[in-house]
Amino acid sequence: MSAMDQDQALTAILDPRSVAIVGASDDTAKWGGSILALLRKFHYAGAVYAVNPRSASVQGVASFASVEAIGQPVDVAVLAVPHERAVAAMQDCVRAGVKGVLMVTSQFAEAGEEGRALQDELVAIARAGGVRIIGPNCMGYFNSHADLCLLNSQALMRSDVLTRGRIALISQSGALAGAMLARACDLGVGLSFCVSLGNQADLEVCDFFEYAIADPHSQVIALYVEGLKDPSRFRSLLLQARAAGKPVLLVKAGRTDAGTRAVQSHTASMAGSYQSFAAVVRSAGAVVVDDYLDLVVHAAAWSTLPAPSSAKVAVMSGSGGGGAVACDQVAEGQLQVASLGSATVQALEPLMPQSCAHVPFDLGAVPGSYRSARANWLQDVLVTMMADPEVGAGIYVMTTQPDMAGAAAAVQAVNRLSGKPLLFVNAASSSGAEAEAVMRAHAQVSFASVEQAVRFLSDRLAAQREHALAAPPQAPQPVASGQLEAITRTFDDGLIAEHQAKQLFAAVGIPVTRGEVADSADAAVRVAAAIGYPVVMKVVSAQISHKSDIGGVVVGVADEAGVRRHFAALQAAVAKVPGAGFDGCLVQQMARADAELLVGTHWDEQFGPMLMFGFGGTLVELQRDTALLPATANQAQIGEALSRLRLYPLLTGFRGRPAADLVKLVDLIWRMGQMAVQLGARLAECEANPVMVQGASVLVADARAVWRKS
Ligand code: ADP
Ligand code: MG
Repeated sequence: MSAMDQDQALTAILDPRSVAIVGASDDTAKWGGSILALLRKFHYAGAVYAVNPRSASVQGVASFASVEAIGQPVDVAVLAVPHERAVAAMQDCVRAGVKGVLMVTSQFAEAGEEGRALQDELVAIARAGGVRIIGPNCMGYFNSHADLCLLNSQALMRSDVLTRGRIALISQSGALAGAMLARACDLGVGLSFCVSLGNQADLEVCDFFEYAIADPHSQVIALYVEGLKDPSRFRSLLLQARAAGKPVLLVKAGRTDAGTRAVQSHTASMAGSYQSFAAVVRSAGAVVVDDYLDLVVHAAAWSTLPAPSSAKVAVMSGSGGGGAVACDQVAEGQLQVASLGSATVQALEPLMPQSCAHVPFDLGAVPGSYRSARANWLQDVLVTMMADPEVGAGIYVMTTQPDMAGAAAAVQAVNRLSGKPLLFVNAASSSGAEAEAVMRAHAQVSFASVEQAVRFLSDRLAAQREHALAAPPQAPQPVASGQLEAITRTFDDGLIAEHQAKQLFAAVGIPVTRGEVADSADAAVRVAAAIGYPVVMKVVSAQISHKSDIGGVVVGVADEAGVRRHFAALQAAVAKVPGAGFDGCLVQQMARADAELLVGTHWDEQFGPMLMFGFGGTLVELQRDTALLPATANQAQIGEALSRLRLYPLLTGFRGRPAADLVKLVDLIWRMGQMAVQLGARLAECEANPVMVQGASVLVADARAVWRKS
């Protein structure tokens, strides 16, 4: 189907001129009853037909024996019939020239083989007849801007209006769509459209994602995703959304599959498919949210609040303690606590004593005489503080205090006046209900906790940073491809040993230690002399992957006698390992390090080459201080991710150590990524661990790879 046909089909589905409910019922406890009732309650203006051969009218709507019998064009048919009757109903829809069929019933692919066969049959009939399907096994969808509600949800049944809004909500799960929608209703947040996709027999998440990018009513896109049918399409839609200036926020199920695959390197074992997914999403400037209810809050805040101008956050509160705790959470959330400049302190003079003019601001500490002297005292204070150029965003923590509704009114006004976001946190529980109502009335979000507010701000700032870093998409740089092919031609499937992996790295311009494999003590002495003492000696054995585990690495070998002694010792060490053969000894240049890093890549089945780097050497799993990016990342993105690692200060002159040559290090990481892009799926994993860094010396001391010819 061409892109234009697809777009027309989705428009007909989301903005239909007519809808038929097949299986319409007077009983609103049934699907065919509730959907018809919802459709009418929100005053859908198009034609509505009931299809039910047993009655002439359902809920006062004229009823027909079949869709075909309606005799008028029908854009959308809702099939609310049991699965046994689905085939006949679908054939009826095809004969009637229906454009889209919403299948809400279950017992299809999700229920086993028989159901899958039935679903496949329905898809085949629909394809042949030019009909698109949503579902089956879903809750339906609505489009507020067309007053069209075909979504069976408790929240909508209790609501008098189908609130219009700017957030497109696309969910694979029907139940979670219902839960998110209920949260949106509580917050008073409108959606542009909402669709639950169920089994995605035909139309899937990406189809509606694409539609939302083009839809003028949708400004923010929120997704709940379980699995992706087409990861590369998904990735390119993320980039399209970014280009269209539409923020994308999503929750992905299946976060904890890391470590289930048998892998050879640290890189691959620490980077599960969820982590790769999250890395791809983030690098496209989109946001991964952990919880689906938070997703609604974040999306709503994104669509209503101005962008933070920096990570410096001013906390304002009705209480000193509330402000102090909030500042801790700000500092822990990769944000900074802002302070006010002297000009602001001066501007605050008519509003409070100087001793109160700071952030965290404790409005409870200001004498009542100041507050009563001015009608909009709180609003004036907040506007003045937010205007400080040192303040990038604010968080207002409302503990129980007098006039909470007034505080909310001031905060919402500040959001319109200051051009920076002032996040409202209701820390007064149900006592703050009136304040929440004020926020809702102004279409603004109340955050449930400081933590939620902090997470929103850090996510939004991270997305802003990504937007700034992302260069226009560039073709992968071919790195010495001829040489790479010549080297890899000799590779067998499986583990590639250190000296061979280093050859590969060297071919793309990555600095590696000099060294050579020696098959005798005499040869080892010759190599050591050529390199210069001290040297490092390591066992070479096709059966041994982690050399130091068996005592197979000796550093700082100082002279010829040492080389001979250790050659014999290493040979003896291998002899003790059952089934391992001794293939010689790698004699190698000794590198110095103030910091030992890991840099590696692995091939992700869904997203292709991924790049990981961080601190730790052999302790990498313990340290958990790594970054994961798509291997296509540019130097700016790599530099930024590096600077966010916990141990980054080790590279910038910690305790009198020389600062590392960051340009060299970033270049090394970038080349590794480019090499992985170049080699594709054949390079299942590769790893430089450690990369020894001391000042201007940046050298790969150990390397391994896993090769997969096919
Ligand atoms: P393994 O196979 O156990 O990972 P490595 O080659 O990484 O073996 O060596 C283990 C450790 O020895 C490294 O983490 C590093 O600290 C040190 N080391 C290895 N090679 C060198 C070298 N060329 N210069 C200095 N130290 C080294
Ligand atoms: Mg190692």
